[in-house]
Amino acid sequence: MAIASVNPATGETLRTFEANGPEEIENRLAAAHATFRTYRTTSFPERSRFLKRAAALLEEDREDIARTMTSEMGKPLASARAEAAKCVKAMRWYADHAEELLADEYPSDHDVKDSGASGVTVRYRPLGVVLAVMPWNFPLWQVVRFAAPALMAGNTGLLKHASNVPQTALYLGDLFHRAGFPAGCFQTLLVGAGAIEGVLRDPRVAAATLTGSEPAGRSVASIAGDAIKKTVLELGGSDPYVVMPSADVDRAARVAVTARVQNNGQSCIAAKRFIVHEDVHDAFTERFTARMEALAVGDPMDESTDVGPLATEQGRADLEELVDDAVRRGARVLCGAGRPQGRPAGWFYLPTVLTEVTPAMRIHHEEAFGPVATVYRVSDLDEAVAVANDSPFGLSSNVWTREAGDMERFVRDMEAGGIFFNGMTASHPAMPFGGVKRSGYGRELSDHGIKEFCNTTTVWIA
Ligand code: NAP
Repeated sequence: MAIASVNPATGETLRTFEANGPEEIENRLAAAHATFRTYRTTSFPERSRFLKRAAALLEEDREDIARTMTSEMGKPLASARAEAAKCVKAMRWYADHAEELLADEYPSDHDVKDSGASGVTVRYRPLGVVLAVMPWNFPLWQVVRFAAPALMAGNTGLLKHASNVPQTALYLGDLFHRAGFPAGCFQTLLVGAGAIEGVLRDPRVAAATLTGSEPAGRSVASIAGDAIKKTVLELGGSDPYVVMPSADVDRAARVAVTARVQNNGQSCIAAKRFIVHEDVHDAFTERFTARMEALAVGDPMDESTDVGPLATEQGRADLEELVDDAVRRGARVLCGAGRPQGRPAGWFYLPTVLTEVTPAMRIHHEEAFGPVATVYRVSDLDEAVAVANDSPFGLSSNVWTREAGDMERFVRDMEAGGIFFNGMTASHPAMPFGGVKRSGYGRELSDHGIKEFCNTTTVWIA
């Protein structure tokens, strides 16, 4: 894949970039490794000063970087601004909390009295150079979600961003540099996926984190596994959105639309499968479909647009294939299922609702990465859980119910890394984020995220 910014709303190539050659890759690896040796000894207040400065700079740059993201990958401008603001918040949160999250731990005398030690401490020390392989869909947030805790923990980072967001990738390298982080702390590598193996196998790289698709995750994890290096994988999702009879159906239908079409439908934690109890199925589906149909599809730079184009032509082709396969096998189209009229250029796709979806259809098992919803009718809680779990993915989940007993059952039985009741899935710096099954492993954000790239060290004194 060429390293280039191509405007998905028009198909126009905005800028192309030369990939870094072997010498540039070597220079960055050497700098990341050399910087780690000294950066690891810096204090939390020093790191916090750098990160707060990065947050302040990003706040100043917000409008420009939002426009860059929208022009490279097509998210509505308001969402791009919100993404930048969310990054600022996460940077400040980790700048304020990292020291406390990584404070030394002292097992109680009672627990270690038979160890023969006069003192035992658990220390969280940085691991080293971490390679971050990142996707285009939240091109700032996915990176900051890794970088803020990793840098506060004393690691250094090398970013291999998706090839279609090079301007955002370069902006990020520049941002951390301008913020005062020592050169080598956080660098962008402009390379295609083919260069990852060499970097990951390099002994100077300690670990890797990847946010992206299953094939990319499988490849990075197998290389890292062979080299015995730690990985965190944040992969795809096909999150269920269950609506039970006690739900506020109108609100559930309204939130369902945002949950499905956020980021033009290209979010790993978007609700994708709507599993609705038969008592409220028709009322929910009617309201949900009417709202999906009423969305404004258009230029993402236009403030009135709800849904912009898909980020790549291939992404739209993949989505079209999934929908065509479902329709061919008997799914009923309630709205959409095609390209909007009058938009010959750009990779637009209409918000779509499908029902009568069966396990024989690819969309039942695969991730629909665009504004396409499937609606299932179920007759009770057990069936709702069974349909929700009938997926290879397990990222997050949403349930609408006012019954405390139902909530407990869903918490006990849902195969997912998160359960959000009466609202849509969101991430917050203080809450762990990640999945199970083929959605990956490990956690980002909160204390769990910052500890993923730490060496949890036992210090024992006789
Ligand atoms: P992608 O094609 O997997 O790309 C992600 C990154 O991996 C890019 O930097 C890409 O580089 C690289 N890559 C691609 N193929 C690779 C391979 N075989 N080996 C190593 N690296 C490889 O995914 P995407 O299309 O950008 O993003 C969409 C996917 O990400 C969806 O499945 C979505 O659900 C998932 N996602 C998950 C989360 C989460 O937190 N769980 C968050 C956001 C997105 P190139 O661009 O150079 O190919």
